[in-house]
Order: sequence, then structure tokens, then C-alpha cells
Amino acid sequence: MVLYDIKNATNEELKALIESSSNDNQLFAAADSVRRRHYGDEVYLRGLIEFTNYCKNDCYYCGIRRSNRQADRYRLSKDEIMQCCNIGYGLGYRTFVLQGGEDPYYTDNRICEIVSEIHSEYPDCAVTLSIGEKSKESYQQYYDAGARRYLLRHETANDAHYKKLHPNGMSGAERKQCLYWLKEIGYQVGTGFMVGSPFQTTENLIEDLRFMQELMPDMIGIGPYISHSQTPFSSFTGGTLELTLRMIAILRLMFPYSLIPATTALGTVDATGREKGLKAGANVVMPNLSPVNVRKQYELYDNKICTGEESAQCRGCLERRVNSVGYRIVNSRGDVRR
Ligand code: SAM
Repeated sequence: MVLYDIKNATNEELKALIESSSNDNQLFAAADSVRRRHYGDEVYLRGLIEFTNYCKNDCYYCGIRRSNRQADRYRLSKDEIMQCCNIGYGLGYRTFVLQGGEDPYYTDNRICEIVSEIHSEYPDCAVTLSIGEKSKESYQQYYDAGARRYLLRHETANDAHYKKLHPNGMSGAERKQCLYWLKEIGYQVGTGFMVGSPFQTTENLIEDLRFMQELMPDMIGIGPYISHSQTPFSSFTGGTLELTLRMIAILRLMFPYSLIPATTALGTVDATGREKGLKAGANVVMPNLSPVNVRKQYELYDNKICTGEESAQCRGCLERRVNSVGYRIVNSRGDVRR
């Protein structure tokens, strides 16, 4: 198969590509050249504000799941969130991502108040939400308040696999429905999955790619699954750096226009994982803007990196890392280029 033609690859061809490391160098080089054609050497910043670690869901893999009684819970006030944006704006961020567990304390009114305050104070910035599954009406209200992007990983496109990762009451079909609603409303939509999540097969990964070919997301967030000691999946081994890089490269070739982050999870499994992710086709980094005193508490998995750094340190560190592999951070909103 010609690597540039991955969009038209058969399932058998994709399976061979996913399961073998022998094409990796060629694959990463092809992904890099496609990424440079669409986005040059630019890397976009997303200032991540992890504003609550309360969650009503009980996903078996996640450290902030409802049943983890040992999690030390916190919520940020609107003022604290605005303070994070203020620091971020000064550091050049033009996108703020509000991410959190599904926390009923943040009613639609509260979310809308926060979104519209950020939107009116920083009209040149994009407000991104990543707060889970909501009704279409709620998504519409957030959009009307000024949110323009939404991140909701589908986690796995296979229903049976979804059921193995989540308790009864959560459904892959409902999660996919949310993504279609978000698109209908007009959001730039991000989805994605964990690489190497428990019970995942190559066929599942191919289904993920096929689902995304249908959805055509603007942003695609993938990272290795990393186990958390206080979850039912604590004994599962995590996803590998190698497979995650291969999947990033395949995604870049399949979705040349997409915004793909080199995630914190990738930097957790390998000291230079994010740099390697950029070289394999990623073009976004998401430094943490949350107050340092709560960062350790947003512990989705064990040994998460960057939990002790001030925002300015985080920004400087990432700039050096990005430059070291031949790319450059730009201070723009970094909208999708379709
Ligand atoms: N509540 C929102 C949602 O459901 O989309 C956003 C927060 S959720 C914790 C963000 C993402 O973290 C999930 O989509 C999942 O893929 C990832 N995640 C959770 N636990 C993880 C783990 N153990 N290893 C790697 N990623 C994990």
C-alpha cells in the first residue's frame, strides 16, 4: 500500500500497518510531510484548565471515577478560572480548554456564566469545553454563550468494547450521538480514544478509524491508556509509546487537516514522548494552566507529568521541547484548516 493512500486502505491493509513496526520510519516521515503541507512547522497551544475532578461517572479506567473514595476532590470558582485565563493570556495562549469530570455542581447556567465571561474578556480567544455528555439543548446553550469547540473522546467505537470499559448505564451509542449533535450545532469537534485500553484489539482500532472517517472530527486526541492504582483496571498494562505514535501517524495521513495533540499521557509513558508525537504528525500541545495546588488531584492515571510546575514554567518547557524537534509554537487560536 502507498502510505499516502491510507484513506482508501482496506481493513486488512490497516491491520498490517497497525501491527507491524517495520514501516514506522516511512510512516512517520510521510505523516510529517503531510502535516507540513497543511500546517507548516506550526504547533498550537491549548491552555488546559482542569476545573473540577468531581465526576458522576464511574469509568473503570479513570482515576477520578465516582467510586474512587481516595480521590481528593476540588472545584475551581469562576474567579479562579478567570485568573488561570489571565495568566494564560499573558503567556500567549489564545485557546482555553475547560475540562472536568461530569460534575452536576456546574449547572448549565454556571457553565454559561463562565464561558460568556471568558468570551467577553478575551474575545480573540477560542473557548473549548470538555465536560462530557450533555443534552443537545445544553450544548446549544454553551454555544450561544460563546463556546466554539468541544472535546469528547468516543473512547472506543465498538459497542461491546465500550461496555467492557464502562458500567451499565453508559453507552457508546449515546456518546456518538453527542458528537453528532455538537457537529450539527456548529462546534469544531474533537474526538479520540486511548491506545492500548484494556481488551482493545486491532479490529477495535480500525473501527475507531472508520467511525472517525464518518464523523470527520476537526481535532483528534489520542494517548496511551495508563493504569491508575485506585481503579478496577489497576492491574492492566498500559498502551505503548510505539503503537500510539503509529496511530498518530495514521491519523495524520487519514485526516491531513486535523488538529492532533501530543498529549500529556504520551509524555508520561516516555520522557520525550510528546516530541516523538510531534515528529509522527501531531501539531498541538496542551500545557496545563490549572493552579499548581490542585494539579496533582486531577489524576486520571498514575505518575502524570507536569503536576508541580507553574504555568509559565510549563509554557517555557514546552517551547524548548517543540523547538528541539524542529517545530515552533505560535500564539494563535489555531483553528482547523479544512
Ligand atoms: N469528563 C469529560 C469527558 O468525559 O470527556 C472530560 C474528562 S475525561 C477524564 C478526559 C479523558 O481522559 C477521557 O476521554 C479519557 O480518554 C482520558 N482518560 C481517563 N482515564 C485515563 C487513563 N487511565 N489513561 C489515559 N487516559 C485516560
